[in-house]
Amino acid sequence: MAGDERQTRFILDLDRKVDARAFVLANPYRVVIDLPQIAFNLPEGAGKSGRGLIRSYRFGMVMPGASRLVFDLAGPAKIEQSQVLEPENGQPSRLIVELAAVDKAAFQATPPSTPAPTQPAPSQPAAQDMQLRSTVVADADPESTGSTAAKPDARQVIVIDPGHGGIDNGTAAPSGENEKTIVLDFAKALRDQIEKSGKYRVVMTRDDDTFVPLGERVRIGRNHAAALFVSIHADALPKREGDAQGATVYTLSDKASDAEAEKLAELENKADAIAGLDLTEEPAEVADILIDLTQRETRAFSNRFAKTLVAEMKRVARMHKHPLKSAGFRVLKAHDVPSVLIELGYVSNKGDLQHLVSESWRSRTVGSVAQAIDVFFGKRVVSAGASR
Ligand SMILES: [Zn+2]
Repeated sequence: MAGDERQTRFILDLDRKVDARAFVLANPYRVVIDLPQIAFNLPEGAGKSGRGLIRSYRFGMVMPGASRLVFDLAGPAKIEQSQVLEPENGQPSRLIVELAAVDKAAFQATPPSTPAPTQPAPSQPAAQDMQLRSTVVADADPESTGSTAAKPDARQVIVIDPGHGGIDNGTAAPSGENEKTIVLDFAKALRDQIEKSGKYRVVMTRDDDTFVPLGERVRIGRNHAAALFVSIHADALPKREGDAQGATVYTLSDKASDAEAEKLAELENKADAIAGLDLTEEPAEVADILIDLTQRETRAFSNRFAKTLVAEMKRVARMHKHPLKSAGFRVLKAHDVPSVLIELGYVSNKGDLQHLVSESWRSRTVGSVAQAIDVFFGKRVVSAGASR
């Protein structure tokens, strides 16, 4: 990086020429650069701080086949130049992005739906973000429709949702362990455990290091008419806010159960902005009495499952002193899918982190979550049978 608060240049050496497409977004001011899937080989800590107009930057995979760089800007800016140079004279291929400060009034977002004027690659479709997102849906569906066509699977669907992924690392331990990896390992172990019983069908919102937008996670649950949606996360507390420990189970509510829960939901809801997308358009909640009734039932189921979960988990795992909380988590918003979010522990706490990366803690805790699922469905089946 070179330059100052008025003009900043970002240069990235590449081992071969790739297509790049850059655009700017507001709220907060960002530059997003879409690339084909590439392996970033940057020094440890790269992006934590920037220079000039670039306050910091992030990078990673957003989905198989696509990577992304996101700059957090110090203020409104425009892209003066963005291009990928051919290798020549012994110099490697290079991505060059030049930014210039503009005032708020002159700032023009080049949202994904309009082709960036500085982008000379006509092969790149406009509205690429929309396409990326619909590809994720397409990816998730063939499997299910394929197997349904072959032989109808009447088993209940449980969606396991490992948080974050790809460009979005989630929280990080001081020693470097990332939430996205910890929760993926846990989710895979939980999937294997649940599938062993053969009683349920498991769908993962992601099973590799891919970014999946929050709305997409909700949609996967709804598209599969899931009987249960379990989102897996790991929390962190900044040093100055003391030391918290243990697992917490969250459900959705309009009003947060306490200030900490509210702050956490805000943080988790930021995932989309982190990847460069702002999915502020939320499906307008239809004021329909049927939807309202479904929603009440769904919330009752969610709360019952959350209680069962806490009861089972506390047999084997350390729980937070208030293990049952609620707040406005966007990922829990399907009105017809009972949904909970588990914060497995605090990566900022030494003891918790030791657990989170330990195989024996993981298998014990996975066992307790699987047990809670069995208890939950056992009760549901009994009550359904009794009413017949
Ligand atoms: Zn998280």
